[in-house]
Amino acid sequence: MSRPVTDGGREMIATKHPLDPMIRAERLPNIWCPGCGIGIVLAAYVNALTKSTKPHEKNVCISGIGCTGRIAGYLNLDTYHTTHGRAIPFATGMAVAKPDLEVFVIAGDGDISTIGGNHLIHAARRNVDINVIMVNNFNYGMTGGQHGATTPLNARTHTSPYGNVESPFNVPYLVSAAGASFVARWTALHVIQVTKAIKRMMEIKGFAFLEVLSPCPPTYGEYNGYPAALDMMKHFRERSVVDNGADLSTVSVATGADDRIVVGNFVDRKRPSYDELLTELQARTGKKSGALTEA
Ligand code: SF4
Repeated sequence: MSRPVTDGGREMIATKHPLDPMIRAERLPNIWCPGCGIGIVLAAYVNALTKSTKPHEKNVCISGIGCTGRIAGYLNLDTYHTTHGRAIPFATGMAVAKPDLEVFVIAGDGDISTIGGNHLIHAARRNVDINVIMVNNFNYGMTGGQHGATTPLNARTHTSPYGNVESPFNVPYLVSAAGASFVARWTALHVIQVTKAIKRMMEIKGFAFLEVLSPCPPTYGEYNGYPAALDMMKHFRERSVVDNGADLSTVSVATGADDRIVVGNFVDRKRPSYDELLTELQARTGKKSGALTEA
């Protein structure tokens, strides 16, 4: 079966895909550049959902602003496209109000760790039962390639043309120290591992965090020696080292030709989640969560 898809007035023919029911096909083609890794993350997320026993209507995806933020618009789910850096607090409210939902935030590194960095650490500290996938392309891609909190030291961007002098966040270390139940990092090349990590995140009760390193050829790649669509993927293949038990204080990411990229499922531990603690508090005090703040 085929269906027409329009692209700026041109009509194209697309054949039916097994994942079509999960995608808003009328929104295609997507906006992402050739060689971008965001579509891979979208496909991994959708594949993980199709293997889950969670009813379709219980899955929610929340995104922020930027290239990765467009993911919400392509998913045939209950999705929310929120303001810049605020996807996590939005998701927190939803997960606390409706704990039966499987809430994912999928957003870029600028959204999650720079503009929304404070929300990230506090959601991890509270161990809110949400799942956060941070697509890290090392810069603000959509707005032309500005540096941010994940831009490696000495990397060049539009706003650090002579090299970045700001130390980047080592986000898995940060989130683990704050208290997350699950912490992983893979690259867009590790499609199977990303899909499996997302499935595991759905099983975790508490804050689950996955960083996916992703190519951004026209901005970060162009400035740092990876301008062609597959250059950064080739680098990921050659320089990634799987170390699930890594000392997280040592896993900062740099993208120089000789730098190692440590990937793995680093943290998987049991801690009481925020909604479990609220439920226990309500049972102990006899007050509902709204009344708890009135005393
Ligand atoms: S600018 Fe970078 S992150 Fe944005 S769509 Fe293009 S390749 Fe992807």
